[in-house]
Amino acid sequence: MRALVTGGAGFIGSHLIDRLVARGDEVVVLDNLSSGHRSFIAEHLEAGNVELVEGDICSMDDVSTAMGKGIDTVFHLAANPDIRLGTRITDTDLKQGTIATYNILEAMRVAGVQRIAFASSSVVYGEGAPLPTPETHGPCMPISLYGASKQAGEGLISSWVGTFGLQAWIFRFANVVGARGTHGVIFDFIHKLKNDPSRLEVLGNGLQEKSYMEVGDCVDAILHYMQHTNEPLNLCNLGSHDTASVRRIAEIVVDVTGCHDAVIEYTGGDRGWAGDIPKARLAIERMLESGFDVRMNSEAAIRHTAECLLEEIGLEE
Ligand code: NAD
Repeated sequence: MRALVTGGAGFIGSHLIDRLVARGDEVVVLDNLSSGHRSFIAEHLEAGNVELVEGDICSMDDVSTAMGKGIDTVFHLAANPDIRLGTRITDTDLKQGTIATYNILEAMRVAGVQRIAFASSSVVYGEGAPLPTPETHGPCMPISLYGASKQAGEGLISSWVGTFGLQAWIFRFANVVGARGTHGVIFDFIHKLKNDPSRLEVLGNGLQEKSYMEVGDCVDAILHYMQHTNEPLNLCNLGSHDTASVRRIAEIVVDVTGCHDAVIEYTGGDRGWAGDIPKARLAIERMLESGFDVRMNSEAAIRHTAECLLEEIGLEE
């Protein structure tokens, strides 16, 4: 297989590429290195297994250049990863999510590329959905601009399947954590403790409760599900069996970093920021029925991530 991975120099994308290269696929990466790092895929670039097209998914020229390289499957992961950004800059998700996904699909149509996997999110379900939330839940009413762009991306993909005969896999991820993470709650906590080991500020009341999936489990689940499903449009939640509270994450990070004297301070309120969904848990029966199960539940994934990121970031200046 010759795959195009948009966002392949990023956190999840680089782990996906490790797996694709290991199974012998050829990989082209389209990434503008805004939150991704060349170092995450350096080993594969040097070995000649991966080609990096440094470009922007918002540019149809850049997307067409990458798509013109004999691609048969697209893994579309590039996007603004920061849900909070939408509270300050209101067109980022529209441009880098919705319009960029249109660019990918249109370039696929023109180049005759038939298969796409898309990194969507549990946040498309919005607030008040039944927990755990099955893929059949609807109507989906996201409450963040990021969530709206993921839902729009799903709609565009579904329409390209219906109109132009594409085959698609849409994955709604829980919180994905692990080595090489560059954002998210565990990453934030370690940086806060690095700046000041005496206190840890937690956004909200700490009772937010979400499901966490280790990145190795996430990329293995993607590839497994694609191998074991063959509908024109395949939709699957990816998450672990349980949830963890932000309070528990703070305790684990304090423990792993050894900052046992840190006072955990809560800013209050039921959510971290406007558009945050305080409680989320995905129904994962479709993933399980495909024959894939996670190796780590939420707490194990969080502890493993804290250990990896501590090693990568370090507490010393
Ligand atoms: P990430 O920031 O590490 O990866 C995104 C990659 O896309 C980066 O390498 C970045 O440089 C690249 N990129 C961003 N904007 C670009 C642009 N305009 N043109 C080209 N490249 C661009 O984030 P991640 O956590 O690996 O997320 C990957 C995907 O998974 C994203 O679509 C994200 O929305 C989705 N997702 C992630 C999570 C999670 O918990 N990490 C949860 C749900 C969905």
